[in-house]
Amino acid sequence: MTKRISVLGSTGSIGKNTLDIVRRAEAGAYKIVALTANSSVDIIAEQAEEFHPEFIALADEAKAAELTSRLSDMDVELGFGSEALIEAAKRHADFTMAAIIGSAGLEPTLAAVGQGNHVGLANKECLVCAGETFMKAVKASGATLLPVDSEHNAIFQVLEDDPKGVRRLILTASGGPFREACMERLQSVTREDALNHPVWSMGAKISIDSATLMNKGLELIEASWLFDRPSSEIDVIVHPQSIIHSMVEYLDGSVLSQMGSPDMRTPIAYAMGWPKRIAAPVERLDFAKISGLTFFEPDMEKFPALRLAREALEAGGQAPCVLNAANEQAVAAFLDGKLPFLGIARVVEAALDAHAKGSDFACAPAHVEAVMALDRAARATVDEQIVNL
Ligand code: NAD
Ligand code: MG
Repeated sequence: MTKRISVLGSTGSIGKNTLDIVRRAEAGAYKIVALTANSSVDIIAEQAEEFHPEFIALADEAKAAELTSRLSDMDVELGFGSEALIEAAKRHADFTMAAIIGSAGLEPTLAAVGQGNHVGLANKECLVCAGETFMKAVKASGATLLPVDSEHNAIFQVLEDDPKGVRRLILTASGGPFREACMERLQSVTREDALNHPVWSMGAKISIDSATLMNKGLELIEASWLFDRPSSEIDVIVHPQSIIHSMVEYLDGSVLSQMGSPDMRTPIAYAMGWPKRIAAPVERLDFAKISGLTFFEPDMEKFPALRLAREALEAGGQAPCVLNAANEQAVAAFLDGKLPFLGIARVVEAALDAHAKGSDFACAPAHVEAVMALDRAARATVDEQIVNL
């Protein structure tokens, strides 16, 4: 039977890898319902020509004329602006890949969840900024969340149906490009250095998050919501080879892990095929060629972002949303050359301190509008700090 698929954020790293699985599948296995992007007209137009979606939504309304003229010969509906993204996410699909970056993905992803079908969740920021609201919406619609983040996908694969038997979840981290760098080196990190991840090929924002280890911090919060575990039951271990994608330790001492080449097409295929396994064009593991698997404690002094994320998870309330928005704004400033690498964690911490003075800091935003308002406020706090640096 043909599976109807939508890809939110189809022009990004996860989006393109998702379409690569579709490209290699048997003819008729999938029908692409909707594709969305922020502003990448050329890429989404090429995707439209190849995959013939029913609907395309572009967030950037200024690009409307350009995309319309580019696709004038095609029988495809086009929509522009944030409402169009939500419309795309509401079109009936058996499976939606939620791969927009950042809190901009929250409302479209919630719209996809509202269908009550399968959602491949790549966008971790949704759960960080709006964990409670998001999980309530999943429960209410009966949607099945299939984690795409490789660590959470690994845990999902090895988690047995006995919550009380689990002692802890262990998230693995590659350690990023600066795992062995000294503090002096970190002071002179450039945009190019930080974008150059040793193992994974990813979009710009998550590459910077991997370099600061904020990515692992966001994943800690993501894991807590997805698997209903407190911070004390989730550990992080650095594993530079990125072969073990995460582990679950059980009460009897057993540790189950999922392994594979560091290629996102494995977790993407797992999510798309679930509950069946489908083929992914990834390099197979050759155990005779793996020289060793090593593990280290993360260095929390060198990478304060991980500490900040754990503290935000434990504080709850507004802290995770402020952490996420402040980090998005700080990473954008770093990529723009307006903030040094070590400034990212510093402004995130300052934003958390500033918002902690508010009387309602302990209360998590109760609905999406409140999440997005807090997100905007935290970004404004960061902008002020950067101007005053
Ligand atoms: P990316 O930057 O490569 O792509 C992001 C996509 O979102 C693009 O299609 C872009 O057009 C769209 N987008 C960006 N801003 C938008 C906005 N304001 N409104 C609407 N659309 C917007 O990102 P990515 O690396 O593919 O990551 C996507 C998500 O998946 C992130 O949440 C990331 O944390 C998560 N993730 C990615 C990887 C990876 O290997 N890339 C691994 C695990 C998790
Ligand atoms: Mg990950």
